[in-house]
This record gives sequence, C-alpha cells and structure tokens, in this order.
Amino acid sequence: MNRQQIPCTTCGAPVDWNGSYSRSVECSYCGASFVPSATGTEDVWLMTDRVARARYEFKGTLDSLAQDIRFEVMRAQDWSSLDRTFVAEAARLEEAGAIRRLASFWAASPHPPIFRALQNGEFVFEDQRARFKADQELVWACPMTRDRFDLRLPILVGDFQSERIQRLCGDMANAMMGRMS
Ligand SMILES: [Zn+2]
Repeated sequence: MNRQQIPCTTCGAPVDWNGSYSRSVECSYCGASFVPSATGTEDVWLMTDRVARARYEFKGTLDSLAQDIRFEVMRAQDWSSLDRTFVAEAARLEEAGAIRRLASFWAASPHPPIFRALQNGEFVFEDQRARFKADQELVWACPMTRDRFDLRLPILVGDFQSERIQRLCGDMANAMMGRMS
C-alpha cells in the first residue's frame, strides 16, 4: 500500500489515501466522503458488469481488479471516445428495446456485460457502423482484443456461450491471467 494524497472530489483539498480503491475516504476539510477512482477522475468501472464487480468485492479482491483494469485494460490512459460511444450506444439500443443485457458477463477482465440483440440493428460510431442481427450477442471488445483480432471498432458480435462465466469463485486467477483465453 502506498500512502499518498489525492484531491477531494468536492473541495479539492488534499486527502490522505492508502491506495485502496474499495474503501471510501473522508475529507477533513469539507467532510465529504468519496470512493477513490483508480484513475483519479476517470471511471475505472465503466465497462464492468455490476454483478462481476460485486463478486470481486465480496471476495475482497476489488483492488486487484481495479489495478488490472487501470494498467492492463486501459493501459494507464482514459477510455477512448470509441469506448464511451459503445457505452452510450448500448444504453440507447437497450432503451429502444433493440438489445437486452444478459445475466452473464465476459470471462476476462474487465468483465463487460453481454447483450443479446432482440432485432436487427446497429451501433453507430461517428461515421462507422457495427451491424447486428436478431439473436446475436454483443460485447465490448477491450484494446487487447481489438489488437488481436484487428478490430477497428470496440465491439464483438457473435455467440459467446463458450466465453461466458457464471461463477468466479476459484476462477479469478484464470480470468485475470487469460483475457480472451
Ligand atoms: Zn473536501
């Protein structure tokens, strides 16, 4: 644990921090408490399925997952505009009833949720489109996956039954080690 100071998200005053991303810290100046983000102002959990995150939290390994996302998935940078567009498009399509979030998530960190298409449609990334057909599954593709499969857009369309995971207990090492394994 590296002791350091981070700015209070409310008033900006320096707050002592022990390096944990899973415990909230309290500002002694304004009294606000907040949970530090692994990236300071960026959202390290943007791509992570809520249930997956809760399972790591339950096991007490949330900090390792946050570190993995920050340095291996995000490569110590912010999410790209394409990543943020994926999140916005998924929300738009879910709202429109074109896709629905399944009760399972990608096996590898950062464990993004898997969606199923209820009808034909498309994700729009500025001037590019990723089309999908009814019954296909959709998941956000991390930078490593994009490199490996030479993808221009951060999305995989297909059937991911074999990549799904319904339990993490005991499997965390594999999930952390083998993205796309
Ligand atoms: Zn404060």
